[in-house]
Amino acid sequence: MKHISRILAFFSIAVVSVCCAAAEENAAQLVARYDNLSLGGPPVSVSALVITSGSMKLTLGSGSAASVKAGDQVIGMFFKGTGSFEYSAKDNVELPIMKANLRETKSAGTVNNGVLSGSFTEALIAAQNVTLPALEGPAGSALDDTFAHHRAILKNDQESLLSLSFAAHQLTAPAQRIVRAELRGAGDDEWVYEADQNNEKLLALYTYQFDDRARRVERYEAVISERPIGRTRADIAPYDYVLSAVDYTLEAGDGNDLHVVATETITPRVNGIRGLVFGLTDLQYASGEKTPRHYTPKSITTDDGKPLAFAHRIDTLLVSLPQPSMAAAPIKLKFDLRGDLLIRENGDNQWFLRSEWFPEPHTAGMATTAHGVIRVKAPFVPFAGGKTIRRVTEGGYNVLETSIDQPVHFVAVTAGKYAYEEEKRGNMTVRTASYGQKNVRAIKKINALAFDMIQYYEYFLGPFPMDELNIVELNSFGSGQAPAGLVFITSEAFQPLLEPINQLFSEGINERMAHEIAHQYWGVAVRWPSPEEQWLSESFAEYSAALLLKKFQGGAPYNRLLAHWKADSNESHTVAPIPLANRITDEFNRTKLLYGKGPYLLAALHKQVGDEQFLTFMKSYQKSFHNKAGTTKDVAGLLGFVAKQDFKPFFEQYYWGTDVPELK
Ligand SMILES: [Zn+2]
Repeated sequence: MKHISRILAFFSIAVVSVCCAAAEENAAQLVARYDNLSLGGPPVSVSALVITSGSMKLTLGSGSAASVKAGDQVIGMFFKGTGSFEYSAKDNVELPIMKANLRETKSAGTVNNGVLSGSFTEALIAAQNVTLPALEGPAGSALDDTFAHHRAILKNDQESLLSLSFAAHQLTAPAQRIVRAELRGAGDDEWVYEADQNNEKLLALYTYQFDDRARRVERYEAVISERPIGRTRADIAPYDYVLSAVDYTLEAGDGNDLHVVATETITPRVNGIRGLVFGLTDLQYASGEKTPRHYTPKSITTDDGKPLAFAHRIDTLLVSLPQPSMAAAPIKLKFDLRGDLLIRENGDNQWFLRSEWFPEPHTAGMATTAHGVIRVKAPFVPFAGGKTIRRVTEGGYNVLETSIDQPVHFVAVTAGKYAYEEEKRGNMTVRTASYGQKNVRAIKKINALAFDMIQYYEYFLGPFPMDELNIVELNSFGSGQAPAGLVFITSEAFQPLLEPINQLFSEGINERMAHEIAHQYWGVAVRWPSPEEQWLSESFAEYSAALLLKKFQGGAPYNRLLAHWKADSNESHTVAPIPLANRITDEFNRTKLLYGKGPYLLAALHKQVGDEQFLTFMKSYQKSFHNKAGTTKDVAGLLGFVAKQDFKPFFEQYYWGTDVPELK
């Protein structure tokens, strides 16, 4: 609650400025209005003007400023001159990654004595339900050109836009406050500060040196700070709705064209919101291609056919609702989506749709069942998670109908030149598909291996969460992925080194296979509700795989992994604590934290409580959070309950903190 009180203290001079005239605008109109900002009055000279919001203090030292309008509404001001900011860095959890990302983005901001300071020469400061200081004074210098240039630069932000933030805010929380400052400084320093009722964040913008010159204007955001308001970091952020069911048809021709019709059941969690915010891919670059692929809704309607207004930009979709939401009263929306999104990486005869190929909530609200009819031009063969309802060939198309009956976080579909064989044992079907030619020997071995792994996981994690598991070869090396009911595994798994089971576990591929199959427990059955909780998926899958290797092959591979995790922990631990791993801009340290330090913490806890209690904890956690989102808070609580010890200090020091435990 600290942040709220700070913000309210500052904004005590505020006067509510939002105007009811805006209330009827739909999503598309709102985005258009906030996109086309204009200077609203003559520039005036300003000096020593201070604007404070939460942890941020902006000082407009000296220069000129003018008001900024979105349509007829004044929403803020634009400043050119000499300015500086101070942002509180008194936050031990995020201080390491603040510093690391400042270095990584080569930002000129510095942290000293608990304050991050920076400077700027241009600032656009916009706010709703917050009144900014009045602009008074003698005439200043003209701002039109600088303002136009500033807007053009900031519209290249690929991750957030003022227009989307303010439009979303008007649709979902019009009575709450929002503040956004877009700062440009000497050199390449660019910053975005944004605060609303739930979060406060400071972002440093950075660019890539793309080969494609047209893309060099693109800005990406490094999170320097993100702080929850009105809750702790251990709590899940509030969210407006749950996507509880999706019913789709997917048609793929023999080119790149994808056509999806998805009917979504949305269950609002709050009353009175006028729109929904989704993630939906709008464009994507295939490697080696200069022209992006596009994907967009052709129409969005209610289930009785009424068209709904929407806006779709930078993978964000805002949709106006036909009437304000009523909590717990489900509504159905139908999306007709088209584009050339079927990307065959490296020219392979295969494509893979992982997420946001239908509109998805960004947050813990993604908990959906799925029913799909997938029609793919032969000879491509489709795979998707869930129970197979039918698999037939109709008029030159291979058709698969499947259903996932439990709430999941990812619904993925793939198709390609695949040949497969399946094996059923009891209620469980394992289906392995090799890329290109049918590799019967490898398929049969992988099927058998998967059953062995599942059997062991059932012993210590409980019943396997899916009735069918599809293991699909990716025609490259060194990676894996595991959405519900699917395991993607690269080609080395299909090569002849796969020999009888004891030899199988000698190489990394078996560890990877064990890791990917474990994701059906960690990630699918127990979901992770936010990027801060991703270790619940990756670190737990990794540790489960290590236990499996230990069971099948004795202590040697487990000890090898342990040494590996320890080395990774030692290399990465000072960069960020585990929950903030996804803020790291370089992938190496992120990987070391989630796949190294995370399992190392679990190994330390395992050693501390012993086999019996640790395995009881793992199984109980799976049981308690089956088909739910888990949290680290629950991990500490349940382990504490099972082992009758208080693990809060352990998690404070090693999970929220950057220390590495001693494991003797
Ligand atoms: Zn994984």
